[in-house]
Amino acid sequence: MTRNDFQTVVVGGGCTGSATAYWLAVRDQRDVLLLEQRPMGHALGSSGDHSRIIRHSYHDNIYGRLTRRMYDMRARLDRESGQRVFVRTGGLDIAVEGSSGTDSVETYRQVMETNGIPFEKLDKRRLQERFPQWDITEDDVRATYQPDTGLIDIRRTTVTHLTLAESLGVTVRDTITVRALEPFDGGLRIVTDGGTHTADKVVVAVGSWADQLLKPLGQTWDTTITEEQVVYVRTPRLKDFSVGAFPIWAWHGDDIFYGFPTTARSR
Ligand SMILES: Cc1cc2nc3c(=O)[nH]c(=O)nc-3n(C[C@H](O)[C@H](O)[C@H](O)COP(=O)(O)OP(=O)(O)OC[C@H]3O[C@@H](n4cnc5c(N)ncnc54)[C@H](O)[C@@H]3O)c2cc1C
Repeated sequence: MTRNDFQTVVVGGGCTGSATAYWLAVRDQRDVLLLEQRPMGHALGSSGDHSRIIRHSYHDNIYGRLTRRMYDMRARLDRESGQRVFVRTGGLDIAVEGSSGTDSVETYRQVMETNGIPFEKLDKRRLQERFPQWDITEDDVRATYQPDTGLIDIRRTTVTHLTLAESLGVTVRDTITVRALEPFDGGLRIVTDGGTHTADKVVVAVGSWADQLLKPLGQTWDTTITEEQVVYVRTPRLKDFSVGAFPIWAWHGDDIFYGFPTTARSR
C-alpha cells in the first residue's frame, strides 16, 4: 500500500502523457493522477492538430525495433475504444540516384529488413507507373514503398487515451500547472498552483516545457525549440491526391521534405 497520495503522477496531457496514463491503467496501476496546465485539447503543444505519420521506415534501429509493437498498441486502442484514429495511406521514401539521399533510403531499407518488415523497391519507371502524380526530371530515383505507413489523428488519439484512462480509474485534471517536483525519501512532492500532492513516481511528459521542471532536478542541457513550417496545397485534381491514390511521401536529399495525401480537413 502506497504511503503517498498517488502511485504515479503524470505531468502533461499531450499524446505522451495521455498514452502513459492509459497504459499504466491497463497494467493495473489505477492510482494515477494526470495534470495538464491548459484546457485539455489545446493547440499550443505538439499534439493539438490532426495528422501525424506513423511508419516502419526509420533511419535507426532504435526506432525500427519498436514499430511492430507500436502498430499493435494502436490497433488495440481502436478495438478498445471503437474509435478510428488511424488511416492507412502507404508511404514512399524517394531519393535521386547518386544524391546524398540514397544513403538514407538504403538505411531505411536495412532497418526494415532487420525487423522483417515487407517493402517494395521502385526505380523511376516503376514509381511513375504506380504513382503518375510524380513528375520527376532527374534520370533515376531510388524509392521504397511500405504499405502500412499511415496517419494518426493525434488530437483524437490523445482524447481517446484520456477517456479510456479515466474509465479505468485514472484521475485527470486540466488547467493545473505543476510548478515544481521535489524528491523526498519515499517519493516526490508535486507542487501545483492548486495544491501539493505526493507520489511514488512521476512521469514528466511536458514536451517543450521540460526545462522548467527538469532543470531544478539536474537536467544539464538547454532544450532548443524550433518552429516547423507546414504548407497546405490546394489541388483541382482532388481524387489523384487523396488517400488510396497518393501515399505519404518523404523526399531525401541534403534536406528532407515530406508530405501527405489531401484529406478533407487539410483544405
Ligand atoms: C508540426 C509537427 C509535425 C509533426 N509530425 C510528426 C509526425 O508526422 N510523426 C510523428 O511521429 N511525430 C510528429 N511530430 C511530433 C509529435 O507531434 C510529438 O512528438 C508529440 O505530439 C509530443 O507529444 P507530447 O505529449 O510529448 O508533448 P505535447 O503535446 O507538447 O504535450 C505536453 C503537454 O504538457 C503540458 N505541460 C507543460 N508543462 C506543464 C506543467 N508544468 N504542468 C502541467 N502541464 C504541463 C503542456 O500544456 C502540453 O499539453 C510532429 C510535431 C509537430 C509540431
